Order: sequence, then structure tokens, then C-alpha cells
Amino acid sequence: MINQVVFLKLLVNKTIKTEKNPAIFLDRDGTLTQRADLTWKKSQIKISPKITPFLRQFNKKNIPIIIITNQPVVARGWISEKGVEKLHQIIQKRIKKQKALINKFYFCPHHPEATIKKYRKNCDCRKPKIGLFKKAAKEFNINLSRSVTIGDMTQDILAGKKAGTKTILINSGHGGRDKKYNISPEYIAKTTADALKLAQKILK
Ligand SMILES: [Mg+2]
Ligand SMILES: [Zn+2]
Repeated sequence: MINQVVFLKLLVNKTIKTEKNPAIFLDRDGTLTQRADLTWKKSQIKISPKITPFLRQFNKKNIPIIIITNQPVVARGWISEKGVEKLHQIIQKRIKKQKALINKFYFCPHHPEATIKKYRKNCDCRKPKIGLFKKAAKEFNINLSRSVTIGDMTQDILAGKKAGTKTILINSGHGGRDKKYNISPEYIAKTTADALKLAQKILK
């Protein structure tokens, strides 16, 4: 009998430890940062101060904030992978000044028609493919079906859907006007701050 109780307790503890958590998946250009077009310079990085209070609240709840971004500027040779990482450090620094943080940046440097041969391929990490969602889910023990994806392009929403997350298209940035893919996001929000506010409700 005692053994059975001990066994049950162990089982409960194990369940708690292995329970997967939700996450927020954010696109970078036009979603986390204001410029929606190709971005490769520090001077092009602008972050709305309205979004950091929401990021902070997710930080407090231990809900990872994951950036997933296509960076064909690497494939074009406009910036190196190291350069992209440096930009991400700059973004992180600015967000940290507002007492919030991004848990991790994942980016795809490839493009099927890349100028630089090394990056010319049909990879599985370029959105709307979901290689990077899967990678993040593994690294952060994420339950994708409990998670939310926010983006300004149709590829973001399609990727979020294929990954099994709930999706919010924002009206700012490209606002889904690229029309590259047929999408049906669960939600539409005016801005990234509005989308993050909505995500809080969804995750409750
Ligand atoms: Mg974007
Ligand atoms: Zn890729």
C-alpha cells in the first residue's frame, strides 16, 4: 500500500516535470520590429515600446518568446549569418533595457534562388515550412497546440497553422497583403501589441 502511494507520487511528479508548456512564436520583420521589408542594418531596427510590457508578462509566466524569421538577405549576400546574430543581440539589448527578453531567435538564411550558392536550397526551415518550429519545440519542451503564432505575412500564418499553433495575423507590417498563400488565421489584430494582448487571453 505504502509502495503504491510512493509510486503514485513519483508518477505525479514525473507528469508535472514532463508537461509541455505553451510558447509565443513571433515573426521578426514587421512584427517584433516595425520595418516589414528586408532588414540588414542596425539603423533599420525599430521596436515599438508598446510591445515590451507584454513580453515582460510572458517572461514572468515562464512562457518562452521565440522569434522565427526568414532572412533571405543572407542568401543575397547582403549580410552574413554572424551579422544577423549581431542584429539579434542589438534587438535583445534594447528589449532588455525595457526589462523584458526574447528567449531565442531562430532564422533561416536560405532561399531557393540564392545568389550565394551555399544558401541556395529548398530547406525545411524557411517559412511556411516548420523546421524551426519543430526545433524550438524540442529545445524548449513546447506544446505546439497550446502555443500562439503572430505574424504579418501569409507565410507566418501558414507555418503557424502547419505547426499546430493558434495564429494571429496582424494588420500592421504587410498585414497579410502579400497574398502568397491562402490563409485563415484564427484571429486578426491591429498591431503586435494588440496581438500579444489577445495571446494572453488565449493562453489563459
Ligand atoms: Mg514579417
Ligand atoms: Zn532555411
